Amino acid sequence: MSVVRYIADRVAVMYMGQIVEMGPGAEVLERPRHPYTQALIAAVPIPRGPRRGRLVLTGDVPSPANPPPGCRFHTRCPFAVDACRANQPPLEPLAATPDSPHHIACLRKNELQ
Ligand code: SF4
Repeated sequence: MSVVRYIADRVAVMYMGQIVEMGPGAEVLERPRHPYTQALIAAVPIPRGPRRGRLVLTGDVPSPANPPPGCRFHTRCPFAVDACRANQPPLEPLAATPDSPHHIACLRKNELQ
């Protein structure tokens, strides 16, 4: 993760075979919006400097052969609600403008920003 910003203009983060966040590399890495991306980046060790806030995932990793219904991340997401267990979130732009390059797949994206 620490070298991605130097080699990629655009980044896509996948969980259980689905893209959960996609956008300009620097923006995704510096301001991750999807809870899974936030947890991934929080897990990257920092040799010097202040520690980041840490989002620690709990719950079991589901089998990729039998992914859970709805949002595939709901079994580990600290923000999951009932709707997350029933509905698969579409990959949508973060901003109100449809041409925003930063997309996430989260039913609560407007609440968690
Ligand atoms: S849709 Fe629900 S479970 Fe999935 S990332 Fe968003 S808040 Fe978490």
